[in-house]
Amino acid sequence: MRFNTALLHSGKMGDDVTGATLTPVYQSSAFYQESAQQHEKLFHNKANGYSYTRINNPTIAAFEEKMTSLEQGIASIACASGMAAITNALLNIVNAGQEIVASSSLYGGSIDVFHDFEAFGIKTHFVDIDNEEEIENAINENTRVIFAETIGNPKLDVVNIKSLSKLAHKHNLPLIMDNTVATAYLVRPISLGADIVVNSTSKYINGNSNSISGVITDSGKFKWDTEKYSGMAEYKKYGPFAFTAKLRNGLFRNTGACMAPQTAFYNLLGMETFGLRMERACSNALKLAEFLSQYDDVKVNYPGLKSSKWHDTADEILENGYGAILTIRVGSKERAFDIINSLTIPKIVSNIGDTKTLIIHPESTLNAHSTDKEKEEAGVFDDLIRISVGIEDIEDLIEDFKNALDN
Ligand SMILES: *Cc1c(COP(=O)(O)O)cnc(C)c1O
Repeated sequence: MRFNTALLHSGKMGDDVTGATLTPVYQSSAFYQESAQQHEKLFHNKANGYSYTRINNPTIAAFEEKMTSLEQGIASIACASGMAAITNALLNIVNAGQEIVASSSLYGGSIDVFHDFEAFGIKTHFVDIDNEEEIENAINENTRVIFAETIGNPKLDVVNIKSLSKLAHKHNLPLIMDNTVATAYLVRPISLGADIVVNSTSKYINGNSNSISGVITDSGKFKWDTEKYSGMAEYKKYGPFAFTAKLRNGLFRNTGACMAPQTAFYNLLGMETFGLRMERACSNALKLAEFLSQYDDVKVNYPGLKSSKWHDTADEILENGYGAILTIRVGSKERAFDIINSLTIPKIVSNIGDTKTLIIHPESTLNAHSTDKEKEEAGVFDDLIRISVGIEDIEDLIEDFKNALDN
């Protein structure tokens, strides 16, 4: 099945018992067991089933299955937020005294959480992810993982996952890719060599901005050396599922990072139209980027434009489009605020990936906690506006931007 057909028809659908076309919301904290023996088996991973929603739940499992197939992995773990997914994926493999190498052009919240890890003895080296030499220099015997975003938010740098995964594997390190901005509609990082993918499903997957959530998808391909990743020894018996088994039996369940069943339902609903929404949003973003490029005093950054430093990488790595986010630099913070305030359709909102067009001044908001150096490396300037393009009629968006810029 092709992309949109698979979204609608792949995997488990609806409810076998009643014939309901949508997977019901199993709004239940716990599940009856037929016998004490069965319950014992469940707790020893010797039977399939459900015990407690903090560990798993049928609605959440249906969502996880759909994400696994979308990202072409072997297993997924749904989390309470994108940040919970990132934290759990990393802390499942990195211990105190060990290190992370990460792109310096990450989402502001991710940079913040890497700083939080310092209190637990985990150090992060932020590098220019396009610069192989800089990455190599940051790797040492304590490094346990490389982390980057497929399309950096808001720098909009497109990472060459093929070469980055080769570099990671040369050092026997797993590559974790945050695929939130690009999404599986544009790229399947696992097919290009990434080992684990995380998504903030609060964005394009959910699609309507009705709930916060995230998900971790494992390729099952990374060979965990149990001397280097000592926590993995106990889970080696699960073969390719070692990473997921360790997480679900450990940190994920013990920190209570679970998704709510209602959220899984909303996400499953959103996924039915995910491909259509992305197609429209990416097309709108390209048209808006081309329109804005006509202004001499507006500097547009969009991977779909030839002027983008990452256009060639985008053509090599991405399919179906160039994403639905663009940024513009307009000369000053004052002008940026004026433009944001003059627009009538884009809403001033801090997230991305809604059906509606959203706009923000990242420097004064999302990157408020970043140092000047971090802001510069993340491509955040005081005259920069980020636009998350929605699925409106493009003519209306262009008219609105024309009015705001001309006046
Ligand atoms: C929003 C976002 C996150 C965090 O996700 P939440 O669901 O808000 O916790 C992580 N990475 C990227 C790239 C994001 O855009």
